Amino acid sequence: MAEKLGKPIGLTAKPTRSQEFYDSVKRKFAEERDLRLKYRPQGLSQYTSELTGALAKYEVDTYAGAVTPREPINDTVECLFVGGGFSALLTSARLREVGVESIRIVERGADVGGTWYWNRYPGVACDVVAYDYLPLLDELDYVPKDHYAGGPEIFAHCQAIARKYDLYKLATFQTTVTSTVWDEAEQMWHIATDRGDHMKARFVICANGILTKPKLAKIKGLETFKGHSFHTSRWDYAYTKPDLSGLEDKVVGIIGTGATAVQAVPGLGAAAKELYVFQRTPSSIDIRDDWPTDPNWARKLGPGWQARRRERARMEPQMTEEQKARQAATSPEEKIRRQENANMEAMMKIHHRIDQVVKDKATAEALKPWYMLMCKRPCFHNDYLPTFNRPNVHLIDTHGKGITEINEKGPVFEGKQYEVDVLIYATGFEVQKTGTYNQIKGANGLDINDKHREGVRTLLGIHSQGYPNLFVMGGLQASFQFNFTDIAEAQGEYIAACIDYVRRHGYQSLDATPKAEEWWVQEVIEHRGKTTFNQECTPGYYNFEGEFQRRQDGNYNGGFFQYCNHLNEVRARMDAHFAFTNKPLTSE
Ligand code: NDP
Repeated sequence: MAEKLGKPIGLTAKPTRSQEFYDSVKRKFAEERDLRLKYRPQGLSQYTSELTGALAKYEVDTYAGAVTPREPINDTVECLFVGGGFSALLTSARLREVGVESIRIVERGADVGGTWYWNRYPGVACDVVAYDYLPLLDELDYVPKDHYAGGPEIFAHCQAIARKYDLYKLATFQTTVTSTVWDEAEQMWHIATDRGDHMKARFVICANGILTKPKLAKIKGLETFKGHSFHTSRWDYAYTKPDLSGLEDKVVGIIGTGATAVQAVPGLGAAAKELYVFQRTPSSIDIRDDWPTDPNWARKLGPGWQARRRERARMEPQMTEEQKARQAATSPEEKIRRQENANMEAMMKIHHRIDQVVKDKATAEALKPWYMLMCKRPCFHNDYLPTFNRPNVHLIDTHGKGITEINEKGPVFEGKQYEVDVLIYATGFEVQKTGTYNQIKGANGLDINDKHREGVRTLLGIHSQGYPNLFVMGGLQASFQFNFTDIAEAQGEYIAACIDYVRRHGYQSLDATPKAEEWWVQEVIEHRGKTTFNQECTPGYYNFEGEFQRRQDGNYNGGFFQYCNHLNEVRARMDAHFAFTNKPLTSE
C-alpha cells in the first residue's frame, strides 16, 4: 500500500525552478492571506466558544447520556488534575513512581481520554506515528496495532493507563471545575465544581489540553436552522447511527475543512445521500504512509524501546562538519530564501497530487492550498481527495470568505441556498486557554487571566508567580511540538520532580520567584518574531487568526531540545528559581 502511494512530501523537497517562479507563488500566497484578512479583520473574535442559550446544545456530551447523580464531594487530596487527558495521565504515572498516592482527576467527560474522549467522529485518528504518540508504551507493555493509531485504540489506551495507575479510584467525572482559589494560610487550593463540590488540594495541575472547548464561527442566522446540527467533537451517533447508515437518505453539510473535516469527510461522502463540503481555506493533504505493525519488528523491540525513541526526539538535530561549514557561509537572508523555496516546492507537490487525483478541474483548483506548508496543521489522508470524485459529494468553495449566512433550510452562499438535513460544524476549538471553564485566583486574589492581560508571564510556561503549587500543562510560553505527547511527557516528568522535591523537603509550597519569571519571559521574547513566517501566513489558529500578538503571548520558539534543557536546568537548581514555604499549617 505504502509503496503504491509513495512517500509523504515533507520539507526536504528540492527547489528546482527559477526564482521568478517562487516569487510569483509567494505573491499569490500574500494575496490569498490579504483576502482573508480583509474578510475577517476581527481575528479571533470571528468565533464564539460561549456555547450558552440556543448554542448550549453544541457542547452537550452525546456519549455519556444523563449525568449520574452523586453527593457533593468535600475532601482533601494531595494532587488534583483539572482534566483527564494525556497530560493528566502521563503526569499521574510519574507521580505514582515517586510515591504520590492521593491523586484525583476531575474531568468534564464521563471517562478519561480528553481529546480522545470527545473526538469520536467517523475516521478519527492521529497523524503522528503511533509508536511516538501513544505514551507509556514501555510501562504498559503495549505496541500499537498500526503505524498510525485510530481514535478508539487511543481512547482505550488512555483507559488502560488509568487502570494501570489506579486513577479511577479518586476520579470524578461529569464534573467541571469552576474555580480554583489559593488559601495562603492553609497553603491549599480550594476547588469548586459545577456539581457543588468543595475539594481541597495541595497541588493543582491544569491539564485541560490545548484544544478543549468547541468553538463555532459567528454566522448570521446559525441558530435559526431547523434541521439537525452538531459539532464534530460531540458527534451524534444516535442520529447518524454508528455505521453512518442513518445518513443514507440525508443531505449533509459540513462547515470547515481543517484536520478534523479531512478525516470525517471520506466516511460522510460514502454514507450520505448528498454531501456538501463548505470550504473557506483548503488544508494541505499529503500521503498517509500507514501499515499494520509488523509482529516480527514488535517482538524484537526489547524493554525500554519507546523511552529510547523519545530520547532521540529530544536530541539536538545533528549536522555534519560540512553542513555546518555550508551553513556558516550562507547569509541569513539566503537561508530564509532557500527554506521558503523548499517549502513552496513541497506545496507544489501537494498541488500536483490534487491534479492527479481529483478529476473535475475546477474542484481540483479549489482544493489547492495557497500558503506555506505549516501555516496550518498539515493533513495526511489517502481518501479525502478521491472523495471529491464521488457524484454525491460537492465542494462549495467560498474563496476565503466562508459561510456568512445560515437560514432555517441551511447555508446560503452568494445568494444560493444549500438545503440540508444535517449540518456538521468542523470549526475547531478555542486554543491554549489556561483555566478553561475555571477561574483561577492566586495568593493575592488575582485572576490569572487578569495577570496575563498585560502580557503572559510564566516560568517555563508551567508556573506563574503568585500561584503557588499550580502547574499549567500545554500552555503559552511552553514549547510547542507537532507531537503533543512529547511536550506532555517532558512537562509531566518535570512537574512530578517539582512535587517530589517539595514533599521530600517537607515544604508546603513552591512559587516561582519574580526573577525566575522575568528570565523566562525574556527568553520567550528573544526567540519569538525572529522571522516573518507567522505574519505572512494565511490566518488560522497557528497565528491567532492574523491578530497582532505581543512577543511574549505565544509559545517558546527556542526549540524542543532547548526547552527540555531549561526544564532540566531549573530542576537541578530549584532554590535559584523558587520560593518555598515551610510553615506550620492552620488546618489540614
Ligand atoms: P480547525 O480550527 O483546524 O479548522 C476549522 C475549520 O473551519 C477551518 O477549515 C476554517 O477555515 C473553517 N471555518 C471556520 N469558519 C468557517 C465558515 N464560516 N465557513 C466555512 N469554513 C469555516 O479545526 P479542526 O477541528 O479541523 O482541527 C483542530 C486541530 O485539532 C487541528 O489543527 C489539529 O491540531 C487537531 N487535530 C489533529 C488531528 C491529528 O491527526 N493529530 C486530527 C484532527 C484534529 P479557515 O482555514 O479559513 O480558517
